[in-house]
Amino acid sequence: MNIKINTNFDLLSENYLFSEINKRINKYKENNKDANIIRLGIGDVTLPLGKKVIDALIKASNEMGKMETFRGYPPEYGYDFVKEAVMNYYKRFNVSLDLDSIFISDGAKSDLGNIVDIFGDNTIYIPNPVYPVYLDSNLMSGRNIKYIVGNKENNFLPLPNKEIKPNSIIYLCSPNNPTGGAYNHDELKKWVDFARENGSLIIYDSAYEAFIYDDNYPHSIYEIAGAKDCAIEICSFSKQAGFTGLRCGWTIIPFELESDNHKINKLWKRRQATKFNGVSYPVQRAAEAALSEEGILECKNNINYYMENAKLLSKLFDEKGIYYTGGKNSPYIWFKCPNGMKSWDFFDYLLENANVVGTPGAGFGTFGEGYFRITSFNTHEKTIEAIERLKKVL
Ligand code: PLP
Repeated sequence: MNIKINTNFDLLSENYLFSEINKRINKYKENNKDANIIRLGIGDVTLPLGKKVIDALIKASNEMGKMETFRGYPPEYGYDFVKEAVMNYYKRFNVSLDLDSIFISDGAKSDLGNIVDIFGDNTIYIPNPVYPVYLDSNLMSGRNIKYIVGNKENNFLPLPNKEIKPNSIIYLCSPNNPTGGAYNHDELKKWVDFARENGSLIIYDSAYEAFIYDDNYPHSIYEIAGAKDCAIEICSFSKQAGFTGLRCGWTIIPFELESDNHKINKLWKRRQATKFNGVSYPVQRAAEAALSEEGILECKNNINYYMENAKLLSKLFDEKGIYYTGGKNSPYIWFKCPNGMKSWDFFDYLLENANVVGTPGAGFGTFGEGYFRITSFNTHEKTIEAIERLKKVL
């Protein structure tokens, strides 16, 4: 065969982070068969779905088995009942949305990856370290990518800087994976004001908004005045309602967003209608249930459980005086490896000396080197046991 392929794929680094982690764990286990390893690297939810969600899933599945209630293809943009649920959810944050600015999808990752389809060759600004999908999807499209550096000096919450060229696309993730840092209202306002002034578009990933407990921190970028003129928001039921295995998310593209004589909402509508056939009916009913009053309370119980772990982990780092971010409005804790160790060296050190596994910061970008991510998604019992072990080795 002699067809041309998209050689931009050659620019991607090997997707080796989690396979390398597993390789190292397996090697360690071979020589230490009885090791009781605790995983604090989990980036997935672990608690089961709430009753409201399950009831809705079962009811909708049964409807699909009856002639009178069977449904075929769902609307490409989501059923109105879920869009209405999302719209009402945002009212909690005093954000009012147009129904047709909301697009339901099978998750935030798809939308974050696919959104590149509707834009031309802009300069792309991506935080470093951050969730890798923004970088990889733009590399695949051959975009000119620049980094917005997160470091100890800016507490891993970079603010706008003069080097960001006008008319660019800027990705923001708050609360951030992996650093756990979240922008407060004032900081996010700086980004919104900046983007409006320099003609840029913000793509705002709020997948972890449900972990925000502090009123000084916005759940949505649209809590900031003017954001509808400069921002797309992408969110998910994955972390808010434990849907990582069910798959559902949403993207908001306000009608105000316009560039080059094109309505961005219309472009996304066209893109989705061409390449996406919607989310399954039972999952959309489950999503609707997750955003009902009772559903939100059930989901909150699970998040409270994880946040108890985050609190215990944060306390350890406070007591030890180790620099860290996150753990407050986020399930992630991001800390500096002791004694100037590199991320992977610290991974091995922790595995060998505490039988605790986390995620090396270098896996989230060059500026993550020397840092380490642990998560609060394990059980209370295992988290407490891990903390006891960490106390001895940190
Ligand atoms: N955005 C961030 C920052 C994430 O960490 C993740 C998953 O870990 C996602 C998006 C993906 O969300 P979804 O499960 O809806 O695809």
